[in-house]
Amino acid sequence: MRMYDLIMKKRNGENLSADEISFMIEGYTKNEIPDYQMSAILMAIYFQGMNDEETLALTMAMANSGDMLDLSAIKGIKVDKHSTGGVGDKTSLALTPMVAACGIKVAKMSGRGLGHTGGTIDKLESFPGFSTGITTNQFMEQVNRIGVAIMGQTMDMAPADKKLYALRDVTATVDNMSLIASSIMSKKLASGADAIVLDVKTGSGAFMKNEKDAFALAKEMVSIGNGAGRNTIAVISDMDQPLGNAIGNSLEVIEAVETLKGRGPEDFQLLVFTLGAYMLIAGGKAKDMAEADKMLHQVIADGSALNKFADFIEAQGGDRDYVYNTDKLVKADISEEILSTKGGYISHIACDEIGICSLILGGGRETKESRIDLAVGLVLHKKKGDFVEIGESLATIHANDKEKLNAAKERFLNAYEFTAEAVIEEPFIKGVLIN
Ligand code: URA
Repeated sequence: MRMYDLIMKKRNGENLSADEISFMIEGYTKNEIPDYQMSAILMAIYFQGMNDEETLALTMAMANSGDMLDLSAIKGIKVDKHSTGGVGDKTSLALTPMVAACGIKVAKMSGRGLGHTGGTIDKLESFPGFSTGITTNQFMEQVNRIGVAIMGQTMDMAPADKKLYALRDVTATVDNMSLIASSIMSKKLASGADAIVLDVKTGSGAFMKNEKDAFALAKEMVSIGNGAGRNTIAVISDMDQPLGNAIGNSLEVIEAVETLKGRGPEDFQLLVFTLGAYMLIAGGKAKDMAEADKMLHQVIADGSALNKFADFIEAQGGDRDYVYNTDKLVKADISEEILSTKGGYISHIACDEIGICSLILGGGRETKESRIDLAVGLVLHKKKGDFVEIGESLATIHANDKEKLNAAKERFLNAYEFTAEAVIEEPFIKGVLIN
């Protein structure tokens, strides 16, 4: 087989076979196929597209390019959840203890990543002593014992995707549905879960800015997951404004704990209950949404979800008292209200811009080496559709540096738009794809 022939085949709009795709991915991972040939085929894929069989073959080849986590030592059905990301997305923090309290086994690999805030691991490190530096054996043992564990990405998972993603980034070939879906799903398949619930975000703070693209991506990923023999469900949810009210690492931990106490913001609560219900169904713990919803309400009401979170924090070296008393978590030196300079109904919040405010305050990473300030961030008091008087507080800003606070504040105020007329509320959950 020659890479030249594969490039020509795809350029001419023909389909590649699974063998051809695995030749290309293996060769590229081993540095036998150079970047210039891979760039050429990426551009051909970008213009000619890939059908479902090709996309599945690409995903499998990338998943098989490195270590595959074998979770068979964990008893029961393992269900994973993945979010395409956004601003204020602290879903895993509340969702995993909730479903674990209902009997689902959650064995999660998580990352730090670049972004407006840290990743799940950074957020969890708000608990002094908490560590994800556990061995694979400790990870399995903990999931069997308490039902939930989170491990940092130590294994060499889907190295082909790492190389390809970097190449796509510099060749303007990131935004192709098959390439995005196979990239995300290759990592999920390598993480070893039996079932996967995807949270695909749409809106100004999401990777997919419009609903049509979000549905198309969800459809591709569900088709890949099911094609690979993993029961896969996708929920398409709103990210046209921040999720919940808190943006910032320890602030998001507090909001997740409040949610585990049944006092979370309405949109965030709806999301964790929806994703949780599909995880219980996919994991065979509930037969339908009504039964799943009842189980999830029960573990919130009787405190078992909160206790599960405390067990999990303690099992990984943290202090469980912080879960019951979040006042102990690290706090910023300065907190100030952001007063609205305009009045009316909030018609739009530039969600990305709110994320950048958190980044300016020091809550996220601009480069891999950046240090995160766990204490800083924002807590919104007003969201889309709310009526605001001039001088009313839109949010509380938490900062450790006055200059950064002023820069973030100015940006924040520019992110809100107002109208004189009441705003029609859009549904938060846009749809669910099961097959
Ligand atoms: N996230 C990924 O992991 N891969 C993509 O291609 C896009 C977003």
